[in-house]
Amino acid sequence: AKLRIAIVGRPNVGKSTLFNRLVGKKLALVDDTPGVTRDRREGDGHLGDLNFTVFDTAGFEDAVDDSIEGRMRRQTERAIKEADVALFLIDARAGITPLDMEFARLLRKSATPIVLCANKAEGREGTMGAHGAWELGLGEPVALSAEHGEGMLDLFETIIDRL
Ligand code: GDP
Ligand code: MG
Repeated sequence: AKLRIAIVGRPNVGKSTLFNRLVGKKLALVDDTPGVTRDRREGDGHLGDLNFTVFDTAGFEDAVDDSIEGRMRRQTERAIKEADVALFLIDARAGITPLDMEFARLLRKSATPIVLCANKAEGREGTMGAHGAWELGLGEPVALSAEHGEGMLDLFETIIDRL
């Protein structure tokens, strides 16, 4: 069966932008409004000679009730469970937020291998910001720019490593 990759993380870190880059099409809606991708989308993508199906998920909000946030959280948990590897995105420019830390706590317990990705890492500001992701306890962050297509070789090599 084809490798399954889930993209997870709080709203606005660039999940849909990375999804679009990996599938090479604009299948997911990219928006400045946090949490705009409420439904799950999937598409076929590749990095080098690695072929996979990738899932874009909504973000994860701090809520456990039946709100939109609660549903987004459950959807994310399901996506991780179904995936062979999950890409956990943070925003290198915004720095680590409490929601990122909560997400990291959940992901550290997950049986699915996690690749921590510091997105929006283009430029000097981004490179410095990416370093802060070490504190999440998920190993070395892969510095990415989904928007500019930077870090894709590192991402490929790290995914291969974790499998
Ligand atoms: P999602 O909510 O996690 O799916 O995030 P989106 O993909 O919708 O992106 C949220 C915002 O971040 C949009 O304005 C994107 O253009 C922007 N963005 C995504 N990737 C990058 C990146 O690599 N660098 C920068 N500077 N902005 C990015
Ligand atoms: Mg999205």
